[in-house]
Amino acid sequence: MEKLQILFAASEAFPFAKSGGLGDVIGSLPKAFPSKETDVRVIIPKYDCIPQEYIDESKLVDIFYVHVGNSNQYCGILEYKADNVTYYFIDNEYYFKRPGLYGYYDDAERFIFFSRAVLECIPYINFYPDILHCHDWQTALVPYLLKEQYAWHYQNVKTVFTIHNMKYQGVYSFSDVAGLLNFDYFPMTMEFYNNINFMKGALYTADLVTTVSPTYAEEIKQPYYGEGLDGVVVDIAYKEVGILNGIDDNEYNPQNDPHIWTNFKSSYLKKTENKKALQAHMNLPVDETKPVISMITRLVDQKGIDLVAAVIHEILQMDLQFIVLGTGDSQYENMLREVAYTYPDKMRACITFDEDLSRKIYAGSDIFLMPSKFEPCGLSQLIAMRYGAIPIVRETGGLKDTVHQFDTETQEGNGFSFSTYNAHDMLNVIQNAVNLFHTDKEAWKKLTDNALKSKFDWKSSADKYLDYYKKITGRQS
Ligand code: ADP
Repeated sequence: MEKLQILFAASEAFPFAKSGGLGDVIGSLPKAFPSKETDVRVIIPKYDCIPQEYIDESKLVDIFYVHVGNSNQYCGILEYKADNVTYYFIDNEYYFKRPGLYGYYDDAERFIFFSRAVLECIPYINFYPDILHCHDWQTALVPYLLKEQYAWHYQNVKTVFTIHNMKYQGVYSFSDVAGLLNFDYFPMTMEFYNNINFMKGALYTADLVTTVSPTYAEEIKQPYYGEGLDGVVVDIAYKEVGILNGIDDNEYNPQNDPHIWTNFKSSYLKKTENKKALQAHMNLPVDETKPVISMITRLVDQKGIDLVAAVIHEILQMDLQFIVLGTGDSQYENMLREVAYTYPDKMRACITFDEDLSRKIYAGSDIFLMPSKFEPCGLSQLIAMRYGAIPIVRETGGLKDTVHQFDTETQEGNGFSFSTYNAHDMLNVIQNAVNLFHTDKEAWKKLTDNALKSKFDWKSSADKYLDYYKKITGRQS
């Protein structure tokens, strides 16, 4: 049988361009498909931040012009190959030769251009996909436009749309985007309180809708998580599934991670070496009997920082050390700086984005706190477990699917969890974790072992995606 042809369209992919979890997913999932059965290609914009070495190794495939409203926009296609995956970079300096990835006044126009470029480049790259897999609002127009404006050209292309975060939907006023999209009517499948909602269009028109964890796939049917589209998700539930993300086992590997002080596999002793080095690095008292709790996170409401703020003084009354690495809302940054100043022997606030330091903290922490209000999947808790830091999470989205409460009787479980979004429930669980650390070393070692053995690789996720691809293309009943 011929290989299944899969084209990923996304706005970021590690190591070319990344602003968060989406970049990680697009960087790792395509590589995890079996090359015997699939030909996987990825298409992203050619941002200015893509390291020059990749551009130097790319070849120009072709040049054509894309209609955006009444204008004709240049579109170059560059091709780069690595690890069985072909990458295409869509080049237009007017739209993409800027610092960073997003946050511009004309983001809607930039991704309308990109979405059309994805659809129109197919004959130029001579790759007619069986599956066109789109991600988040930036490429949400692709399934919609394919059905409404390009169906004649691509009758056999099936579309998949993945929601990585329901909070960002691409909502614009009709008057701003109608001309750019050549709409002479108001499409009801995109209507959202009199605006145009790109994500809503994808939910209705894609052949399959996925989210990044089974629990989040259910949660977004409720108003609390649905960000206004819960009714639509209920409507399309027949074609919606949740598939867990994984982490790149080679990238995040305490056995050979060059960022950490002492490489380790399962040795608790070597992990403790990292902890002592971290304490010294942070200028905290070097004392292996104190549990080190850490957070590595965007400092935004989603991540439950308000819960931490509400009980931060109670947390710091406990016999522990607390390290936070993060950037985000200035109110949270300032709060953390102030508290760290008040507890110089117990807390550090590193208000920066630092990949190297993040690895050192994962490896040196006993406990990793992630009390999110919502969490589509979450990668940080997976990385924490890979480095033997025990997660404390709220039971939501991917956190619920990956972290299971440790049971001291059966010795099963890889972390701690609480269900209600409540600061004192969280505090209670932190107290339990700190207690266990201080009073039962054997149980703690077993728990660390369970966390280190938890497997969240991409292979099983890729297998699930492949099954669904086969179903919707009719290759499997
Ligand atoms: P989200 O994508 O919602 O921010 P995830 O848990 O899915 O959350 O992924 C966050 C990723 O970003 C993890 O790899 C985490 O280690 C990393 N990260 C977050 N904040 C920082 C920071 N300040 N410095 C270094 N890495 C960070």
